[in-house]
Amino acid sequence: MKELSVNRDPAELRRMIDYLGIAAFVIDVVSDDEFRLAAINARHEQLSGMKHGEVAGRSVDEVLSPDMAAAVKARYRRCVVQKAPTDYQEVLDLPIGRTYWQTTLVPFVDDAGNVTRLLGTAYEISGTAHLELETRYQSTVMSAYLDESPDGILVVDAQNRMKTWNRRFLEIWNIPEEVMEARDGKAALQAVTEQLEDPEGFIQRVMELYSTLDEEERGVRIQMKGGRVLERYSRGLHGPDGAYWGRIWFYRDITELERLTEELRWLSQTDPLTGAANRRAFMEALEEEYHRARRYGHPLSVLMFDLDHFKQINDRYGHAAGDAVLKEFAQVVMPEVRGSDCFARLGGEEFAVLLPESGLDAACKLAERLRQDAAGLRFSSPAGAFGVTVSIGVAELEAGDQAPDALLTRADRMLYTAKAAGRDRVCPQHGSMVGSR
Ligand code: GH3
Ligand code: MG
Ligand code: MG
Repeated sequence: MKELSVNRDPAELRRMIDYLGIAAFVIDVVSDDEFRLAAINARHEQLSGMKHGEVAGRSVDEVLSPDMAAAVKARYRRCVVQKAPTDYQEVLDLPIGRTYWQTTLVPFVDDAGNVTRLLGTAYEISGTAHLELETRYQSTVMSAYLDESPDGILVVDAQNRMKTWNRRFLEIWNIPEEVMEARDGKAALQAVTEQLEDPEGFIQRVMELYSTLDEEERGVRIQMKGGRVLERYSRGLHGPDGAYWGRIWFYRDITELERLTEELRWLSQTDPLTGAANRRAFMEALEEEYHRARRYGHPLSVLMFDLDHFKQINDRYGHAAGDAVLKEFAQVVMPEVRGSDCFARLGGEEFAVLLPESGLDAACKLAERLRQDAAGLRFSSPAGAFGVTVSIGVAELEAGDQAPDALLTRADRMLYTAKAAGRDRVCPQHGSMVGSR
């Protein structure tokens, strides 16, 4: 050791430290701001890319960049002042690139008590450091995701113990933080099931998922008491060797989404002025009922309405009065139709009713009743009081009809027959006219 602490021959020094199995270097302390590399060993050369022949005898300031030299010198100085071995981790940008080191410095103290030389030994830990950085990065991303996710997330381990959850999970389920912190799975499940419409079904399914490790769930609807609706996603977590690590659960509150979807569906199928179905909804219902009637051999009928002289009503009493007539007419029809019927405004002052399971007779009776109800309506406007009448064509599905359109066209033709015959009347296919005059 004495040799190592005082020898001035770089080549011999090098031989001495080559015996060490790890990267080693010897530093001569010239002053508190000047440190010279006396030697580096073969392992150091290999890991740092530096060459003993090129750096021996040179000051740290000549070998490293100013920033790195300053940082390195600060550590050397600390060891000199403390006169005791020091350990530290450092990052160095060396000829081979950025490297991470776990370094130990040992000071040599001369007879006068001064530190004249340092022996450094270092492990290169770049691999570990990268791994640690990568892990830290992953966990930062993960916790940001957990914090910000609109989904409530719960992770349980292989023994079904609660491992991780986010704030949103507690909000969605109204579970007190203490219950989760106590990792009390029973209490948590209790808190959850009290809020459900079907607690038994919920528990049964959760247990099933816990026992079938590979099973996934994507978007299962869960109805809560009080009208809220959740959607559940779940899948097992497996390690690289296939070992079961546990399960992750996602809960999404879709109450608002469902409400909006329903509202949009309603809007897309409804006439805004009258609240009756619109043409699109009517055509869809017709298509569906046509096939049903064909399949089961059941009757199917259609009423086609057109308000009489509606242009005159607009002209005499104003457009607003015309709108009031359309709304009032719809109010007259709506209570008369069944839930399975479809009453629609096809456009302008034209309406229709689709009557599944009804033959021509029943359809004509309804048509006549509606015609009379409409004729009984009275309206007032600044330009005076007035009434309205309606013409109605009635048709029933026939064996020879090839498509729903055939039924519609026939009802339409009957409507125009009713118009031509003087309006305010019901005209059924191959039947006699029923009407006021
Ligand atoms: P007909 O007895 O032959 O059916 O005569 P009509 O005047 O009812 O026939 P026409 O189809 O010529 O006129 C329909 C009128 O309905 C024309 C249009 O201004 C009016 N109309 C269409 N949609 C609306 C609406 O939403 N509100 C109002 N106020 N009027 C409408
Ligand atoms: Mg018309
Ligand atoms: Mg008309």
